[in-house]
Amino acid sequence: MKLSGISASPGVAMGRVLLYEPYSITNETWAADSLECGEEKLHAYEQAKAAAMAELKNSSERCGINEGNTAILEAHRLLLEDVAIDEDIRAAIMSGQKPSEAIAATYQRYIDLLLHTDDGLTQERAADMRDVCSRLLRCLAGKPEKSLSSLPNHTVIVAKELNPSDTATIDREHIAAIVTEEGGLTSHTVILARSYNIPAVIGVTGIFTLATDGDELLADAVTGQVYINPAQAERVEWSRSMEQFQAAQQSRNHYYRKDAVTMDGVRILVELNLSGGSAQQAEAGAVDGVGLLRSEFLYLGRHRLPDEEEQFAFYRGVLERFTEKPVILRTMDIGGDKQAECLSLPKEDNPFLGKRGLRLCFDKTDLFHTQLRAALRASAYGDLRLMFPMVGSLDDWRKARQLVCEVMEELRMQKLAFNPAMPLGIMIEIPSIALMAEEIAAEADFASIGTNDLCQYLMAADRMNPGVALYHQPFHPAVFRVLRPVAQAFARHGKPLGVCGEMGGDPAAALALMGLGIRCFSMCAPAVADMKRMVCNVTIKEAGAAAEAVCAARTEDEVKKILAQYTDVINLRTPERGKHAALL
Ligand code: PEP
Ligand code: MG
Repeated sequence: MKLSGISASPGVAMGRVLLYEPYSITNETWAADSLECGEEKLHAYEQAKAAAMAELKNSSERCGINEGNTAILEAHRLLLEDVAIDEDIRAAIMSGQKPSEAIAATYQRYIDLLLHTDDGLTQERAADMRDVCSRLLRCLAGKPEKSLSSLPNHTVIVAKELNPSDTATIDREHIAAIVTEEGGLTSHTVILARSYNIPAVIGVTGIFTLATDGDELLADAVTGQVYINPAQAERVEWSRSMEQFQAAQQSRNHYYRKDAVTMDGVRILVELNLSGGSAQQAEAGAVDGVGLLRSEFLYLGRHRLPDEEEQFAFYRGVLERFTEKPVILRTMDIGGDKQAECLSLPKEDNPFLGKRGLRLCFDKTDLFHTQLRAALRASAYGDLRLMFPMVGSLDDWRKARQLVCEVMEELRMQKLAFNPAMPLGIMIEIPSIALMAEEIAAEADFASIGTNDLCQYLMAADRMNPGVALYHQPFHPAVFRVLRPVAQAFARHGKPLGVCGEMGGDPAAALALMGLGIRCFSMCAPAVADMKRMVCNVTIKEAGAAAEAVCAARTEDEVKKILAQYTDVINLRTPERGKHAALL
């Protein structure tokens, strides 16, 4: 059976299906709640507790030598055995409460008590309690534990949708591909799949119902085709695609280690976007630095907040890996599609328009303070630059800068080392700040354009919703028209301006953005070779002409056609084709 979707992370792969549905407590129903007799309800609770205990024991054994995880699991086991909590749950059940409510209400009471203290460690215990409570409630519902962190070899995950926290902790050694029904091209799950080099096809309608666990699946994440239990002719079609992909990969490698210099000698900086696992394995040699370190991935898919020491060690590790090269650390951008379990934030109707990024940091100042301390301390170990996400006004920027100054003062008093001249910058991803480019360029040390959100907010089209993918148009002339004065303002003030949204890793988009005057592009590692290939085979004069043409265009379609003409000629010029062609 052949199904079609959208190629989201290129690659060609084969494997066995694993249907995955993240567990959610919302809308859960518990058979135990309709039991009449108190003794039976108690028995159901006991069984759930025993099942939860067995899961923790199994996980501990799987963790083996990972001492950090084993300690957490041990702490959870002790919580499950806590006599006071256990007695309270039993008493509530015997007084007539439903088992699920007795568990949820009892744990919540203890969590509230803990949250009334200011101590960070105690707050972490609250996160542990929340975790134990939801494990117990899931076991009470008789639902199995689900995790993608340990998979059989050659697994193809088939899901309606994947959370970024699932993808961030995925077993990268054994995953073959990801296929989902939902998701947008700039969703964080897709961004992670790209940076982990996992082939991904999204928007495959109905696959979750059509596929079964264990089915053979061939994924062609170049054309967006997916074959379930393929027939012979489909196998041949897929093999052809596989061979073409591998051949193209070889020609790409030709550019990977080259410097990105245009044919008329302008050096373009090519940097990496890193998040979570990709940060630990990033190869520094072929790039000019890190243009976006998505620090929020330190908070996802885990039950405890990362403390100052953990963050410090992580940031320092990245700086040491990149030695003298600049690393732009973006302060946590939690919210939107990146929900951190360890924070248990209230649900919002429009999370992308809600308390996200810097807004959340202004609300949870303790959390922000810890991150700023860790980042500043790490700044003593390399060229660290700090960037704030979701800046909508000069007030946002000034407030964030002020908080950094306060932390600097604190570290000075404590005689802890940091770089007092650490550059501070912002992401340009909210249209209001793009329109204030002149003023922000005067105050900030640098900026980087987040085209994923900029496009979402400019076009009023949710980046996650395939139903409005048609309206989420990164190549719309409006995007380039908004960015033109931004590029001019930063050039006038002599301040660095980069692009770190997904457009920054798309050679056709980057060509036009180069023409607007932008000289720095940050992308996932697999995009580096293609970007350098484009840069090395074009002139700045041509890029300028492309930029003018796209700004003058009227529709996204027109822009795509214009850029396709340039791309065609660039393709003819590359040495592997052995030809030369003129664009102008
Ligand atoms: C962006 O919005 O373009 C960006 C780089 O940030 P994120 O994708 O993490 O929101
Ligand atoms: Mg963004």
